[in-house]
Amino acid sequence: MRSTLSRREALKHIAIAAGALAVARTTTAAPSLPHVNPKDPMAVGVSYHENVATLKASEFPQYKPGDKCANCAQIGGTAGQAWRPCNIFAGQLVSANGWCSAYSRKT
Ligand code: SF4
Repeated sequence: MRSTLSRREALKHIAIAAGALAVARTTTAAPSLPHVNPKDPMAVGVSYHENVATLKASEFPQYKPGDKCANCAQIGGTAGQAWRPCNIFAGQLVSANGWCSAYSRKT
């Protein structure tokens, strides 16, 4: 008994597999979250800076060179990503190069 697929059947199976893969990718992709707006009242309240390079260190005595969101205890997500979740801004992403007055160095 010969059990080979016809070319048409093989293409049909490939199309079905590709469709299933596309659905799987859509349902497992990380949700796209908005970036924290530095002008948002909560962000202003904690002096969030999207880029620590724009921070005037003289205005924030608790700031130490090298402090930034990427090495803060409140940051989540994956190291190396430019935008990551933060515990104090639920449902939004902060810049890995940002900083705010709630900063606490990750130990
Ligand atoms: S709590 Fe930390 S990670 Fe969150 S915005 Fe402030 S400095 Fe960045």
